[in-house]
Amino acid sequence: MLTLLKLLKDGRFHSGQALGAALGISRSAVWKQLQHLEADLGLSVHKVRGRGYQLAKPLLLLDSTEICAKGLHEWPVHIFDSIDSTNAEALRFIERGGAAPFLVLAERQVAGRGRRGRKWVSPFAENLYHSLVLRIDGGMRQLEGLSLVVGLAVMHVLRDMGVAGAGLKWPNDVLVGKKKIAGILLELVGDPADVCHVVLGVGINVNMQSTDEVDQQWTSMCLEAGRNFDRNELVARLGARLQQYLELHHASGFAAIQPEWEQYHLWQGRAVSLIAGVNKIDGIVLGVDHQGALRLKVDGVEKNFSGGELSLRLRDDS
Ligand code: ATP
Repeated sequence: MLTLLKLLKDGRFHSGQALGAALGISRSAVWKQLQHLEADLGLSVHKVRGRGYQLAKPLLLLDSTEICAKGLHEWPVHIFDSIDSTNAEALRFIERGGAAPFLVLAERQVAGRGRRGRKWVSPFAENLYHSLVLRIDGGMRQLEGLSLVVGLAVMHVLRDMGVAGAGLKWPNDVLVGKKKIAGILLELVGDPADVCHVVLGVGINVNMQSTDEVDQQWTSMCLEAGRNFDRNELVARLGARLQQYLELHHASGFAAIQPEWEQYHLWQGRAVSLIAGVNKIDGIVLGVDHQGALRLKVDGVEKNFSGGELSLRLRDDS
C-alpha cells in the first residue's frame, strides 16, 4: 500500500493502468489499495474518469537522505511508515542493545502517547513524531531539568521557522497562546545514578489542519504561519537546536538555562492550580529552580514542586 502511496505522492494524476503496471498488480487491486489508503491513512484521493487517480494534496514524506542534506549528521535516523509509538520503538531498540545516540521518526503513530498513558493524536505524514535516545553516564545532574531543556529547543525551532508566538508551559508543553502545538515525553531505562538511556520524545503539530480527536485547544505550525512546512527541514533544524541546548545542559547544568526558560514561560506570575492526583494546590507561579522544579507562592510562602505526575492549570480567576 505504501509503495502505491510513494507513486502518488507527487500529487499528479496517475492512470490505474500505469499504477498497476508499476506495482505488478491488476487495476482492480490498485482500486482496492486506494480504498485502504483512504480508510487507513485518512488520505483523500481524487478519482477522475479518463485521467486516473490523484492525491488531494501532494505529500512530502520523511526521507533520511533529505534530512542529511539539510544538515543533520549527528545521529543515525530510523524512519517508520507506521508504528505504535516512536518512544516505544526507541525503548525496544535499547533493549536489543542498540547503540545511542539515535533517532526514531515515524509517518504516523497508532498508539502515540502523552504522559500517564494519555493519547497523542498522530495522523499520517502531517506532523512530526520524533524520539531521540541518549546514553547518560553517571550523574543525576544530567537529567535535571532535561524535559524543560527539550521544550526550549523545540520552542526555538518553531520560532526560527515562523511561529513567533510559541512559548512554554511547565513542565513540558509548547503552546501558542492557550493552544498546544507540541508535547514532550521523556522516558528512562536503566539506573539514573549509573548508566541509563533517556528517550526524548517530541510530537510537533506541523501541517495538521483539522482533527476531531484532540480534546483540548491545539494548533499547528501550518495554522499559525499559513503555509505548509517541510518536515525533513524541521528534523534537521530541531537536531541543531537540540544539540546546542543539550551541550549547554551537559556542560553547565540546568542552572545555565533556567533564566532563559523563565523568559519564555507563558504562565510566569499567573495564578494557577497544581494538580497532583486528587490533590489541588493553588498558587502564583514564581518560576523554576536550578533543577527545573516549579516554584509556586502558596499562601505567601514559596514551595517547590517536581515530578512526572504534576499538571498545571490556569485558575479561572487568573
Ligand atoms: P499536562 O498539563 O498534565 O501536561 P496535557 O493534557 O498537556 O496535561 P500530555 O500528556 O502532555 O497532557 O499530552 C496528552 C494530551 O495532549 C492529550 O490528553 C490531549 O488532550 C492532547 N493531545 C493529544 N494529541 C495532541 C496533538 N496532536 N496536539 C495537541 N494536543 C494533543
